Amino acid sequence: MLGVALATIALAAGGHAAAAERPPIAWDAIPFPAKRKREMTSYSKRHYGSSHYGLHNPKVIVEHLTESSTYRPVWSMFAQDVADSELHELPGVCSHFVIDQNGKIHQLVPISLMCRHTVGLNWTSIGIEHVGFNPSDVLGRAKVMRASLRLTNWLRCREGIELKNVIGHNESLKSPYHHERVARLRGQTHDDFPTSSMRKYRAALRKLTC
Ligand SMILES: [Zn+2]
Repeated sequence: MLGVALATIALAAGGHAAAAERPPIAWDAIPFPAKRKREMTSYSKRHYGSSHYGLHNPKVIVEHLTESSTYRPVWSMFAQDVADSELHELPGVCSHFVIDQNGKIHQLVPISLMCRHTVGLNWTSIGIEHVGFNPSDVLGRAKVMRASLRLTNWLRCREGIELKNVIGHNESLKSPYHHERVARLRGQTHDDFPTSSMRKYRAALRKLTC
């Protein structure tokens, strides 16, 4: 623990760790007013036992697929703060980033705020969505894959997140950081980005340096 604290201080003081270059990111914020922050705080209390809406020292990056063919409806869905159709909870779901099929990176939420994108991991993870239906929509499209790797690597290096903690949504239950107080949700995950695809993704990510 002390080692972690010292490393954090060193990072804060030196500021030299984030040598990985920031890719072009289009700021496209969804509304995150006081009401949504209050809802996020309540969600955090129910699911994680901690009463705050902020994301501090994230340990995990979760890769997702939107199951849509375009970006705009994803923005609209994340922007409207309504209970989701699956778990019927507030605040509405969101991810910090969405990468379009042309490789354009949109940021919707500052990484200092918690987003609901992965049950059990929202408290400590950054969410990255990719417009598409299958992992091949990322792994098989050079522009998307390049953008995704650059963004993930930049965030990973900046936040000191270990490569093994860059995971697909479908790998959420295996994460050592998975924590869920609501019993009926402890086995809940989604199909997007299974281990077979994430192995290839992490192998490509490993080639990039910080
Ligand atoms: Zn997902």
